Amino acid sequence: MAGAASTALAVVGGGPGGYAAAFLAADLGLDVTLIDLEPNPGGVCLYRGCIPSKALLHVAKLVEEAREASAWGVRFGDPEIDLDELRAWKDDVVAKLTGGVGQLAKHRRVRYLRGIATFRDGRTLRVDTRDGDETTLSFEHAILATGSRPTRLPGFPEGSDRVLDSTTALELRDVPKRLLVVGGGYIGLELGSVYAALGSKVTVVEMTPSLLPGVDADLVRPLAKRLEDKLEAILLETRVAEVVERKDGLAVRFEGKGAEGSPGKARRFDRVLVAVGRRPNTAGLGLESTRVEVGDDGFVRIDSRRRTAEPTIWAIGDVAGQPMLAHKASHEGRVAVEAIAGRAVAFEPRAIPAVVFTDPEVAWCGLSETEAKRDGTKVEIARFPWAASGRAKTLGRDDGVTKLVVDPDSERVLGVGLCGPGAGELIAEGVLAVEMGATVEDLALTIHPHPTLSETIMEAAEAFSGRATHIYRPRRGHSSER
Ligand code: FAD
Repeated sequence: MAGAASTALAVVGGGPGGYAAAFLAADLGLDVTLIDLEPNPGGVCLYRGCIPSKALLHVAKLVEEAREASAWGVRFGDPEIDLDELRAWKDDVVAKLTGGVGQLAKHRRVRYLRGIATFRDGRTLRVDTRDGDETTLSFEHAILATGSRPTRLPGFPEGSDRVLDSTTALELRDVPKRLLVVGGGYIGLELGSVYAALGSKVTVVEMTPSLLPGVDADLVRPLAKRLEDKLEAILLETRVAEVVERKDGLAVRFEGKGAEGSPGKARRFDRVLVAVGRRPNTAGLGLESTRVEVGDDGFVRIDSRRRTAEPTIWAIGDVAGQPMLAHKASHEGRVAVEAIAGRAVAFEPRAIPAVVFTDPEVAWCGLSETEAKRDGTKVEIARFPWAASGRAKTLGRDDGVTKLVVDPDSERVLGVGLCGPGAGELIAEGVLAVEMGATVEDLALTIHPHPTLSETIMEAAEAFSGRATHIYRPRRGHSSER
Protein backbone atom coordinates (compact mmCIF):
# COMPACT_ATOMS: atom_id res chain seq x y z
CA MET A 1 0.00 0.00 0.00
CA ALA A 2 1.26 3.48 -0.81
CA GLY A 3 0.61 6.45 1.45
CA ALA A 4 1.72 10.03 1.80
CA ALA A 5 2.61 12.14 4.82
CA SER A 6 4.49 15.30 5.64
CA THR A 7 6.71 16.40 8.48
CA ALA A 8 8.72 19.47 9.45
CA LEU A 9 11.81 17.39 10.20
CA ALA A 10 12.61 13.90 8.94
CA VAL A 11 15.53 12.19 10.67
CA VAL A 12 16.92 9.23 8.74
CA GLY A 13 18.69 6.86 11.15
CA GLY A 14 17.88 6.34 14.82
CA GLY A 15 21.39 6.08 16.30
CA PRO A 16 22.73 8.39 19.02
CA GLY A 17 23.03 11.15 16.40
CA GLY A 18 19.56 10.70 14.97
CA TYR A 19 17.61 10.20 18.18
CA ALA A 20 19.39 13.04 20.02
CA ALA A 21 18.51 15.33 17.09
CA ALA A 22 14.91 14.10 16.92
CA PHE A 23 14.40 14.53 20.67
CA LEU A 24 15.79 18.08 20.79
CA ALA A 25 13.74 19.04 17.74
CA ALA A 26 10.60 17.75 19.46
CA ASP A 27 11.58 19.60 22.66
CA LEU A 28 11.83 22.77 20.57
CA GLY A 29 8.31 22.21 19.27
CA LEU A 30 9.03 20.82 15.78
CA ASP A 31 6.97 18.06 14.22
CA VAL A 32 9.47 15.19 13.87
CA THR A 33 9.53 11.84 12.08
CA LEU A 34 12.37 9.46 12.94
CA ILE A 35 13.02 6.58 10.55
CA ASP A 36 15.00 3.40 11.23
CA LEU A 37 14.71 -0.32 10.59
CA GLU A 38 15.15 -1.38 14.19
CA PRO A 39 12.21 -1.94 16.55
CA ASN A 40 13.34 1.06 18.61
CA PRO A 41 15.82 3.91 18.15
CA GLY A 42 19.37 3.16 19.34
CA GLY A 43 21.46 2.59 16.22
CA VAL A 44 24.79 0.82 16.12
CA CYS A 45 25.76 2.28 19.49
CA LEU A 46 22.96 0.67 21.48
CA TYR A 47 22.31 -2.46 19.40
CA ARG A 48 25.75 -3.59 18.24
CA GLY A 49 28.41 -1.14 19.39
CA CYS A 50 29.13 0.87 22.53
CA ILE A 51 26.59 -0.72 24.86
CA PRO A 52 26.89 -4.49 24.24
CA SER A 53 30.69 -4.21 24.01
CA LYS A 54 30.89 -2.35 27.31
CA ALA A 55 28.58 -4.84 29.02
CA LEU A 56 30.92 -7.67 27.95
CA LEU A 57 34.04 -5.69 28.84
CA HIS A 58 32.65 -5.23 32.33
CA VAL A 59 32.40 -8.99 32.68
CA ALA A 60 35.89 -9.43 31.20
CA LYS A 61 37.31 -7.03 33.81
CA LEU A 62 35.57 -8.90 36.60
CA VAL A 63 37.06 -12.20 35.42
CA GLU A 64 40.56 -10.72 35.17
CA GLU A 65 40.34 -8.99 38.54
CA ALA A 66 39.18 -12.18 40.21
CA ARG A 67 42.24 -13.92 38.74
CA GLU A 68 44.58 -11.17 39.88
CA ALA A 69 43.19 -11.07 43.42
CA SER A 70 45.32 -14.10 44.20
CA ALA A 71 48.27 -11.68 44.42
CA TRP A 72 46.53 -10.13 47.46
CA GLY A 73 45.79 -13.44 49.11
CA VAL A 74 42.24 -13.86 47.80
CA ARG A 75 41.70 -16.88 45.61
CA PHE A 76 38.67 -17.76 43.51
CA GLY A 77 38.27 -20.87 41.40
CA ASP A 78 38.34 -20.78 37.61
CA PRO A 79 35.31 -18.87 36.32
CA GLU A 80 32.43 -20.97 35.02
CA ILE A 81 31.06 -19.09 32.08
CA ASP A 82 27.50 -19.78 31.03
CA LEU A 83 27.48 -18.25 27.58
CA ASP A 84 23.69 -18.37 27.24
CA GLU A 85 23.19 -16.45 30.47
CA LEU A 86 25.90 -13.96 29.62
CA ARG A 87 24.38 -13.38 26.19
CA ALA A 88 20.91 -13.04 27.70
CA TRP A 89 22.18 -10.46 30.21
CA LYS A 90 23.89 -8.43 27.49
CA ASP A 91 20.75 -8.62 25.30
CA ASP A 92 18.65 -7.54 28.25
CA VAL A 93 20.84 -4.46 28.81
CA VAL A 94 20.38 -3.58 25.12
CA ALA A 95 16.62 -4.25 25.22
CA LYS A 96 16.11 -2.09 28.33
CA LEU A 97 18.06 0.82 26.88
CA THR A 98 16.53 0.70 23.39
CA GLY A 99 13.07 0.20 24.91
CA GLY A 100 13.69 3.23 27.13
CA VAL A 101 14.72 5.35 24.16
CA GLY A 102 11.59 4.16 22.32
CA GLN A 103 9.47 5.29 25.27
CA LEU A 104 11.19 8.68 25.29
CA ALA A 105 10.36 9.05 21.60
CA LYS A 106 6.69 8.33 22.38
CA HIS A 107 6.59 10.77 25.31
CA ARG A 108 7.96 13.48 23.04
CA ARG A 109 5.51 12.58 20.27
CA VAL A 110 8.30 11.84 17.84
CA ARG A 111 6.71 9.78 15.03
CA TYR A 112 8.81 6.60 14.71
CA LEU A 113 8.61 4.98 11.28
CA ARG A 114 10.13 1.53 11.06
CA GLY A 115 11.54 1.20 7.56
CA ILE A 116 14.18 2.13 5.01
CA ALA A 117 14.28 5.68 3.73
CA THR A 118 15.48 6.76 0.29
CA PHE A 119 15.62 10.35 -0.96
CA ARG A 120 13.53 11.14 -4.02
CA ASP A 121 14.66 14.76 -4.05
CA GLY A 122 15.58 17.53 -1.63
CA ARG A 123 12.05 17.65 -0.21
CA THR A 124 10.79 14.09 -0.35
CA LEU A 125 11.68 10.68 1.04
CA ARG A 126 10.31 7.31 0.14
CA VAL A 127 10.01 5.03 3.15
CA ASP A 128 9.61 1.28 2.65
CA THR A 129 8.12 0.15 5.90
CA ARG A 130 8.63 -3.24 7.54
CA ASP A 131 5.05 -4.30 6.83
CA GLY A 132 5.54 -3.85 3.09
CA ASP A 133 3.95 -0.41 2.75
CA GLU A 134 5.50 2.49 0.93
CA THR A 135 5.13 6.02 2.27
CA THR A 136 6.05 9.22 0.51
CA LEU A 137 7.18 11.60 3.20
CA SER A 138 7.63 15.25 2.32
CA PHE A 139 9.76 17.31 4.69
CA GLU A 140 10.92 20.85 5.25
CA HIS A 141 14.27 19.64 6.58
CA ALA A 142 15.90 16.22 6.79
CA ILE A 143 18.83 15.06 8.89
CA LEU A 144 20.87 12.23 7.48
CA ALA A 145 22.16 10.09 10.36
CA THR A 146 22.65 6.71 8.72
CA GLY A 147 25.90 5.88 10.53
CA SER A 148 28.49 3.40 9.36
CA ARG A 149 29.18 -0.30 8.88
CA PRO A 150 32.25 -2.51 9.37
CA THR A 151 34.83 -2.38 6.59
CA ARG A 152 35.24 -5.76 4.88
CA LEU A 153 38.59 -7.03 3.71
CA PRO A 154 38.97 -8.77 0.40
CA GLY A 155 40.47 -12.25 0.42
CA PHE A 156 38.56 -13.54 3.44
CA PRO A 157 36.21 -16.49 2.82
CA GLU A 158 32.82 -14.95 1.86
CA GLY A 159 29.87 -15.99 3.98
CA SER A 160 31.97 -18.15 6.33
CA ASP A 161 30.70 -18.16 9.91
CA ARG A 162 34.33 -18.46 10.98
CA VAL A 163 34.89 -14.87 9.83
CA LEU A 164 33.41 -12.38 12.27
CA ASP A 165 32.94 -8.63 12.25
CA SER A 166 32.15 -6.54 15.33
CA THR A 167 28.43 -7.24 14.97
CA THR A 168 28.72 -11.04 14.82
CA ALA A 169 31.49 -11.06 17.45
CA LEU A 170 29.09 -9.32 19.85
CA GLU A 171 26.50 -12.04 19.26
CA LEU A 172 28.81 -14.26 21.31
CA ARG A 173 27.87 -17.49 19.52
CA ASP A 174 30.75 -19.38 21.12
CA VAL A 175 34.19 -18.90 22.62
CA PRO A 176 36.64 -20.01 19.92
CA LYS A 177 39.76 -21.75 21.13
CA ARG A 178 42.01 -19.72 18.87
CA LEU A 179 40.84 -16.29 17.70
CA LEU A 180 42.71 -14.03 15.32
CA VAL A 181 41.82 -10.34 15.56
CA VAL A 182 42.74 -8.43 12.42
CA GLY A 183 43.28 -4.78 13.39
CA GLY A 184 44.82 -3.35 16.56
CA GLY A 185 42.42 -0.41 16.79
CA TYR A 186 39.98 0.14 19.62
CA ILE A 187 37.26 -2.23 18.42
CA GLY A 188 39.73 -5.09 17.83
CA LEU A 189 41.38 -4.62 21.22
CA GLU A 190 38.11 -4.28 23.12
CA LEU A 191 36.53 -7.37 21.59
CA GLY A 192 39.82 -9.28 21.67
CA SER A 193 40.02 -8.54 25.42
CA VAL A 194 36.50 -9.86 25.94
CA TYR A 195 37.23 -13.16 24.18
CA ALA A 196 40.61 -13.50 25.94
CA ALA A 197 38.91 -13.13 29.34
CA LEU A 198 36.29 -15.71 28.34
CA GLY A 199 39.05 -18.19 27.50
CA SER A 200 40.09 -17.75 23.85
CA LYS A 201 43.74 -17.69 22.89
CA VAL A 202 43.73 -14.37 21.08
CA THR A 203 46.28 -13.20 18.51
CA VAL A 204 46.12 -9.59 17.30
CA VAL A 205 47.65 -8.67 13.96
CA GLU A 206 48.26 -5.01 13.15
CA MET A 207 49.85 -3.52 10.04
CA THR A 208 51.43 -0.48 11.71
CA PRO A 209 54.27 -0.54 14.29
CA SER A 210 51.92 0.09 17.23
CA LEU A 211 48.59 -0.88 18.72
CA LEU A 212 46.01 1.92 18.59
CA PRO A 213 47.70 3.60 15.62
CA GLY A 214 47.86 7.39 15.95
CA VAL A 215 47.52 7.44 19.75
CA ASP A 216 50.43 8.85 21.81
CA ALA A 217 52.98 6.07 22.44
CA ASP A 218 53.25 6.72 26.18
CA LEU A 219 49.49 6.23 26.56
CA VAL A 220 49.51 2.98 24.60
CA ARG A 221 52.56 1.47 26.35
CA PRO A 222 50.91 0.35 29.63
CA LEU A 223 48.03 -1.21 27.69
CA ALA A 224 50.36 -2.98 25.24
CA LYS A 225 52.39 -4.34 28.13
CA ARG A 226 49.36 -5.75 29.88
CA LEU A 227 47.93 -7.18 26.68
CA GLU A 228 51.21 -9.00 26.05
CA ASP A 229 50.40 -11.04 29.17
CA LYS A 230 46.72 -11.55 28.40
CA LEU A 231 46.91 -12.34 24.69
CA GLU A 232 48.54 -15.23 22.90
CA ALA A 233 50.46 -12.93 20.53
CA ILE A 234 50.54 -9.39 19.17
CA LEU A 235 51.93 -9.26 15.64
CA LEU A 236 52.90 -5.69 14.70
CA GLU A 237 54.00 -4.53 11.24
CA THR A 238 52.33 -7.66 9.96
CA ARG A 239 49.52 -8.20 7.48
CA VAL A 240 47.32 -11.12 6.63
CA ALA A 241 48.50 -12.50 3.28
CA GLU A 242 46.05 -15.36 2.85
CA VAL A 243 43.13 -16.98 4.62
CA VAL A 244 41.98 -20.43 3.56
CA GLU A 245 39.02 -22.16 5.13
CA ARG A 246 39.58 -25.79 6.04
CA LYS A 247 37.37 -28.33 7.78
CA ASP A 248 38.92 -27.69 11.17
CA GLY A 249 39.45 -23.95 10.97
CA LEU A 250 41.10 -21.16 9.05
CA ALA A 251 44.67 -21.41 7.82
CA VAL A 252 46.15 -17.91 7.91
CA ARG A 253 49.41 -16.85 6.33
CA PHE A 254 51.06 -13.63 7.45
CA GLU A 255 53.52 -11.25 5.80
CA GLY A 256 55.86 -8.88 7.56
CA LYS A 257 57.54 -8.80 10.93
CA GLY A 258 55.24 -11.33 12.57
CA ALA A 259 55.97 -13.87 9.84
CA GLU A 260 59.73 -13.67 10.27
CA GLY A 261 61.15 -17.00 11.35
CA SER A 262 58.32 -18.94 9.73
CA PRO A 263 57.83 -17.35 6.29
CA GLY A 264 55.05 -18.88 4.26
CA LYS A 265 53.86 -21.04 7.14
CA ALA A 266 50.12 -20.92 7.83
CA ARG A 267 48.79 -20.69 11.39
CA ARG A 268 45.49 -22.24 12.39
CA PHE A 269 42.61 -20.27 13.96
CA ASP A 270 39.05 -21.25 14.76
CA ARG A 271 37.68 -17.80 14.04
CA VAL A 272 38.94 -14.52 12.63
CA LEU A 273 37.52 -11.19 13.74
CA VAL A 274 38.02 -8.48 11.13
CA ALA A 275 38.13 -5.09 12.87
CA VAL A 276 39.85 -2.79 10.40
CA GLY A 277 37.59 0.24 10.60
CA ARG A 278 34.17 1.40 9.52
CA ARG A 279 32.69 2.87 6.35
CA PRO A 280 30.02 5.59 6.23
CA ASN A 281 26.57 4.45 5.04
CA THR A 282 25.93 6.60 1.97
CA ALA A 283 25.02 3.98 -0.63
CA GLY A 284 21.41 3.24 -1.60
CA LEU A 285 20.06 6.42 -0.02
CA GLY A 286 19.10 8.12 -3.27
CA LEU A 287 21.58 10.92 -2.59
CA GLU A 288 22.14 11.20 -6.34
CA SER A 289 18.63 12.64 -6.65
CA THR A 290 19.63 15.47 -4.29
CA ARG A 291 22.47 17.98 -4.26
CA VAL A 292 24.14 16.23 -1.30
CA GLU A 293 27.84 15.68 -2.00
CA VAL A 294 29.97 12.77 -0.85
CA GLY A 295 33.72 13.40 -0.54
CA ASP A 296 36.54 11.16 -1.72
CA ASP A 297 36.87 9.95 1.88
CA GLY A 298 33.32 8.56 1.65
CA PHE A 299 31.82 11.03 4.14
CA VAL A 300 28.94 13.37 3.32
CA ARG A 301 30.22 16.92 2.94
CA ILE A 302 28.85 19.38 5.45
CA ASP A 303 29.49 22.89 6.71
CA SER A 304 30.16 23.96 10.28
CA ARG A 305 26.42 23.81 11.05
CA ARG A 306 26.20 20.29 9.54
CA ARG A 307 24.29 21.43 6.44
CA THR A 308 24.99 19.58 3.18
CA ALA A 309 25.15 21.14 -0.28
CA GLU A 310 21.37 20.55 -0.44
CA PRO A 311 20.04 23.35 1.79
CA THR A 312 17.17 21.28 3.21
CA ILE A 313 19.37 18.29 4.12
CA TRP A 314 21.77 18.08 7.05
CA ALA A 315 24.14 15.27 7.99
CA ILE A 316 25.55 14.17 11.35
CA GLY A 317 27.40 11.35 13.05
CA ASP A 318 29.46 8.58 11.45
CA VAL A 319 28.14 9.35 7.97
CA ALA A 320 29.40 12.92 8.22
CA GLY A 321 33.03 12.46 9.27
CA GLN A 322 35.57 11.50 11.91
CA PRO A 323 35.78 10.82 14.74
CA MET A 324 33.18 8.08 14.47
CA LEU A 325 32.01 8.27 18.06
CA ALA A 326 28.55 8.28 19.61
CA HIS A 327 28.96 11.46 21.67
CA LYS A 328 30.24 13.36 18.65
CA ALA A 329 27.17 12.18 16.69
CA SER A 330 24.76 13.32 19.43
CA HIS A 331 26.40 16.72 19.76
CA GLU A 332 26.32 17.26 16.02
CA GLY A 333 22.66 16.27 16.00
CA ARG A 334 21.85 18.94 18.55
CA VAL A 335 23.85 21.56 16.63
CA ALA A 336 22.03 20.73 13.38
CA VAL A 337 18.63 21.00 15.08
CA GLU A 338 19.49 24.34 16.67
CA ALA A 339 20.63 25.59 13.26
CA ILE A 340 17.36 24.38 11.71
CA ALA A 341 15.50 26.19 14.50
CA GLY A 342 17.25 29.39 13.39
CA ARG A 343 19.80 29.73 16.16
CA ALA A 344 23.36 30.97 15.55
CA VAL A 345 25.34 27.80 16.24
CA ALA A 346 28.30 25.87 14.85
CA PHE A 347 29.99 22.58 15.64
CA GLU A 348 33.33 23.83 16.91
CA PRO A 349 34.47 21.67 19.82
CA ARG A 350 37.99 22.15 21.13
CA ALA A 351 37.97 18.70 22.58
CA ILE A 352 36.14 15.52 21.57
CA PRO A 353 37.05 12.78 24.03
CA ALA A 354 38.00 9.33 22.79
CA VAL A 355 38.08 6.31 25.08
CA VAL A 356 39.36 2.81 24.54
CA PHE A 357 37.54 0.65 27.10
CA THR A 358 40.25 -1.97 27.45
CA ASP A 359 41.99 -2.71 30.74
CA PRO A 360 43.72 -0.35 31.32
CA GLU A 361 41.54 2.19 29.58
CA VAL A 362 43.13 4.76 27.32
CA ALA A 363 41.50 8.18 26.93
CA TRP A 364 42.46 11.46 25.39
CA CYS A 365 40.97 14.75 24.23
CA GLY A 366 42.01 17.96 22.53
CA LEU A 367 45.48 18.24 21.02
CA SER A 368 47.63 15.14 21.37
CA GLU A 369 51.41 15.13 21.55
CA THR A 370 51.49 13.16 18.28
CA GLU A 371 49.38 15.79 16.50
CA ALA A 372 51.45 18.63 17.94
CA LYS A 373 54.66 17.01 16.65
CA ARG A 374 53.12 16.30 13.24
CA ASP A 375 51.86 19.88 12.85
CA GLY A 376 54.93 21.54 14.37
CA THR A 377 52.88 23.08 17.18
CA LYS A 378 55.08 24.13 20.11
CA VAL A 379 53.83 22.46 23.27
CA GLU A 380 55.10 21.42 26.67
CA ILE A 381 54.17 18.07 28.15
CA ALA A 382 53.53 17.58 31.86
CA ARG A 383 53.23 13.98 33.06
CA PHE A 384 52.27 12.34 36.31
CA PRO A 385 53.07 8.62 36.60
CA TRP A 386 50.46 6.59 38.46
CA ALA A 387 53.27 4.85 40.32
CA ALA A 388 53.20 7.98 42.53
CA SER A 389 49.41 7.88 43.04
CA GLY A 390 48.18 6.54 46.37
CA ARG A 391 44.84 5.56 44.85
CA ALA A 392 46.48 3.67 41.99
CA LYS A 393 48.53 1.71 44.55
CA THR A 394 45.40 0.78 46.53
CA LEU A 395 43.93 -0.63 43.33
CA GLY A 396 47.08 -2.60 42.61
CA ARG A 397 47.32 -0.75 39.30
CA ASP A 398 50.14 1.77 39.31
CA ASP A 399 51.23 1.39 35.69
CA GLY A 400 49.08 4.27 34.39
CA VAL A 401 49.99 7.75 33.30
CA THR A 402 48.31 11.15 33.12
CA LYS A 403 49.63 13.81 30.78
CA LEU A 404 48.78 17.36 29.86
CA VAL A 405 49.63 19.00 26.54
CA VAL A 406 50.19 22.66 27.34
CA ASP A 407 50.65 25.82 25.31
CA PRO A 408 54.01 27.13 26.66
CA ASP A 409 53.08 30.78 26.13
CA SER A 410 49.58 31.00 27.57
CA GLU A 411 50.00 27.91 29.76
CA ARG A 412 46.53 26.82 28.62
CA VAL A 413 45.77 23.12 28.61
CA LEU A 414 45.37 22.11 24.96
CA GLY A 415 45.03 18.39 25.43
CA VAL A 416 44.82 15.69 28.07
CA GLY A 417 45.74 12.02 27.88
CA LEU A 418 45.28 9.19 30.37
CA CYS A 419 46.01 5.51 30.57
CA GLY A 420 44.78 3.49 33.52
CA PRO A 421 41.63 2.00 35.02
CA GLY A 422 38.82 4.54 34.92
CA ALA A 423 40.57 6.77 32.36
CA GLY A 424 37.30 6.96 30.44
CA GLU A 425 35.58 8.66 33.39
CA LEU A 426 38.55 10.84 34.30
CA ILE A 427 38.90 12.32 30.82
CA ALA A 428 35.72 14.35 31.35
CA GLU A 429 37.71 16.73 33.57
CA GLY A 430 40.23 17.13 30.76
CA VAL A 431 37.47 17.90 28.25
CA LEU A 432 36.07 20.57 30.55
CA ALA A 433 39.53 22.07 31.08
CA VAL A 434 40.26 22.26 27.35
CA GLU A 435 36.78 23.56 26.46
CA MET A 436 36.90 26.23 29.18
CA GLY A 437 40.42 27.33 28.21
CA ALA A 438 41.75 26.40 31.65
CA THR A 439 45.42 26.99 32.41
CA VAL A 440 47.61 24.40 34.13
CA GLU A 441 47.43 26.60 37.21
CA ASP A 442 43.62 26.37 37.21
CA LEU A 443 43.95 22.59 37.41
CA ALA A 444 46.76 22.72 39.97
CA LEU A 445 44.79 25.07 42.25
CA THR A 446 41.57 23.05 42.10
CA ILE A 447 41.25 20.88 45.20
CA HIS A 448 40.76 17.27 44.12
CA PRO A 449 39.43 14.60 46.46
CA HIS A 450 41.93 12.26 48.08
CA PRO A 451 42.69 9.46 47.49
CA THR A 452 41.43 9.40 43.91
CA LEU A 453 42.85 8.91 40.46
CA SER A 454 41.55 12.39 39.61
CA GLU A 455 44.40 13.77 41.70
CA THR A 456 46.76 12.64 38.94
CA ILE A 457 45.34 15.43 36.77
CA MET A 458 46.01 18.00 39.48
CA GLU A 459 49.49 16.61 40.09
CA ALA A 460 50.31 16.58 36.37
CA ALA A 461 49.38 20.28 36.40
CA GLU A 462 51.59 20.82 39.46
CA ALA A 463 54.38 18.90 37.73
CA PHE A 464 54.28 21.48 34.94
CA SER A 465 55.80 24.01 37.32
CA GLY A 466 57.93 21.48 39.22
CA ARG A 467 55.65 21.53 42.28
CA ALA A 468 53.96 18.12 42.28
CA THR A 469 53.78 16.93 45.87
CA HIS A 470 54.26 13.25 45.12
CA ILE A 471 57.05 13.37 42.55
CA TYR A 472 60.32 15.24 42.76
CA ARG A 473 60.99 16.79 39.40
CA PRO A 474 62.18 20.40 39.67
CA ARG A 475 61.32 22.73 36.81
CA ARG A 476 64.22 22.74 34.39
CA GLY A 477 64.30 26.03 32.51
CA HIS A 478 62.39 25.72 29.28
CA SER A 479 62.84 22.09 28.39
CA SER A 480 60.02 20.70 26.25
CA GLU A 481 59.33 17.89 28.67
CA ARG A 482 58.89 17.52 32.37
P1 FAD B 1 24.53 4.73 13.98
O1 FAD B 1 24.56 4.48 15.42
O2 FAD B 1 25.40 3.94 13.08
O3 FAD B 1 23.03 4.55 13.54
C1 FAD B 1 22.63 4.66 12.22
C2 FAD B 1 21.25 4.09 12.10
O4 FAD B 1 20.76 4.43 10.79
C3 FAD B 1 21.18 2.58 12.19
O5 FAD B 1 20.29 2.22 13.23
C4 FAD B 1 20.66 2.12 10.84
O6 FAD B 1 19.74 1.06 10.95
C5 FAD B 1 19.95 3.38 10.34
N1 FAD B 1 19.87 3.49 8.88
C6 FAD B 1 20.89 3.38 7.98
N2 FAD B 1 20.41 3.57 6.74
C7 FAD B 1 19.07 3.79 6.84
C8 FAD B 1 18.03 4.05 5.92
N3 FAD B 1 18.24 4.12 4.61
N4 FAD B 1 16.79 4.24 6.40
C9 FAD B 1 16.54 4.18 7.73
N5 FAD B 1 17.48 3.94 8.65
C10 FAD B 1 18.73 3.74 8.21
N6 FAD B 1 31.43 4.99 20.08
C11 FAD B 1 31.63 5.59 21.26
O7 FAD B 1 31.51 6.80 21.36
N7 FAD B 1 31.99 4.87 22.38
C12 FAD B 1 32.15 3.53 22.34
O8 FAD B 1 32.47 2.91 23.35
C13 FAD B 1 31.95 2.86 21.11
N8 FAD B 1 32.08 1.53 21.02
C14 FAD B 1 31.81 0.92 19.84
C15 FAD B 1 31.96 -0.47 19.78
C16 FAD B 1 31.71 -1.14 18.60
C17 FAD B 1 31.84 -2.64 18.55
C18 FAD B 1 31.27 -0.39 17.45
C19 FAD B 1 30.97 -1.09 16.17
C20 FAD B 1 31.14 0.98 17.50
C21 FAD B 1 31.41 1.65 18.69
N9 FAD B 1 31.31 3.04 18.80
C22 FAD B 1 31.56 3.65 19.99
C23 FAD B 1 30.95 3.87 17.63
C24 FAD B 1 29.47 4.29 17.72
O9 FAD B 1 28.67 3.14 17.75
C25 FAD B 1 29.13 5.16 16.53
O10 FAD B 1 30.03 6.23 16.44
C26 FAD B 1 27.71 5.71 16.67
O11 FAD B 1 26.77 4.68 16.78
C27 FAD B 1 27.37 6.59 15.47
O12 FAD B 1 26.10 7.07 15.63
P2 FAD B 1 25.22 7.55 14.39
O13 FAD B 1 24.02 8.19 14.98
O14 FAD B 1 26.05 8.32 13.44
O15 FAD B 1 24.80 6.24 13.60
